[in-house]
Amino acid sequence: MKVAVFSCKPYDKRTLASFTNEADLSMTYFESRLSMETISLVQGFDAVSCFVNDDVNAEVICLLKQQGVNTIALRCAGFNNVDLEAAKTQGIKVFHVPDYSPTSVAEHAVALIMTLNRKTHRAYHRVKEGNFALEGLMGFNLEGKTVGCIGTGRIGAAFCRIMKGFGCRVLCYDLSPSQSLIDHGCEYITLEEIYQHSDIISLHCPLNASTHHLINKHSLDKMKDGVMIINTSRGALVHAQEAIDALYSGKIGYLGLDVYEQENKIFFEDMSSHIIQDSVFQLMLTFPNVVVTGHQGYFTIEALNHIAETTIDNLLHHQSDSSGARQLA
Ligand code: NAD
Repeated sequence: MKVAVFSCKPYDKRTLASFTNEADLSMTYFESRLSMETISLVQGFDAVSCFVNDDVNAEVICLLKQQGVNTIALRCAGFNNVDLEAAKTQGIKVFHVPDYSPTSVAEHAVALIMTLNRKTHRAYHRVKEGNFALEGLMGFNLEGKTVGCIGTGRIGAAFCRIMKGFGCRVLCYDLSPSQSLIDHGCEYITLEEIYQHSDIISLHCPLNASTHHLINKHSLDKMKDGVMIINTSRGALVHAQEAIDALYSGKIGYLGLDVYEQENKIFFEDMSSHIIQDSVFQLMLTFPNVVVTGHQGYFTIEALNHIAETTIDNLLHHQSDSSGARQLA
């Protein structure tokens, strides 16, 4: 089987190659994203492998079919960038990697909380310059604070368990509550109550029509003054401009983002010599109480190995695991 691997960085290539038997799969690695602009690259391939910012819309899927592609193997859990209905219509199978390492993203959410709270991002630069003054670096104890978790699937559940370990009260909202988390001492309440009571709110639900811009002026108005918002899920869960307004007013006291709505124009590339043409993003970076990372929540050795292993299994066997959980279309 010939596979065109898109959005492939050197670290992806290394891990994929280490799990590939060339006799079974012939992989060609492209750094570029799959989109209408790069669709011509798929000629002669049976399958494509894509990542979070590849634009696999209905038009692209139609052209994939015309070029003879019959499988899309996503190397990620989220699939909001793929038109699954179009794939079904065209008879193209779509696989993803649902549970490659929930811990990696959950731990990154905690890293953002700890950085924002104890201001290690600022302390690092101060100490390098011989400035050991503590003014402006004061944090708070996490023990006893109330943490709201929106979406308690694989990643959210791992996050809740870690926060319980810190001695936090953990409030949860999900369409399907988890008995295991309830047994662990977490409390399921309404979304409104999460907004009302939480000192920290971490987003772990998928991006869909009901969660698009979940964090906006109206939801922020219901939150505590100085609330900490953490988003490691998908950028469009947060209305960026309204979050900036809330940073100016002090409603948001801390903002930690691993994802950003317009990230596909910026993330995963070295933009240090470019002028980033996104004034909202540029403005966001100027706040001392905002920490942005470039979609690296998943980026641990354990997760990359699991992604590579599962993606190759999905491609080779052209079928889902026994529960059917890895096949989306
Ligand atoms: P999951 O499917 O295991 O869990 C998602 C949970 O959200 C489910 O329990 C579901 O019931 C719940 N949910 C759905 N709609 C909801 C709503 N409207 N309100 C509240 N809860 C809702 O997914 P997961 O593996 O935990 O991943 C969560 C998200 O994390 C993914 O959708 C993806 O966008 C993101 N993610 C980010 C990274 C990263 O590197 N930053 C890596 C992997 C995944």
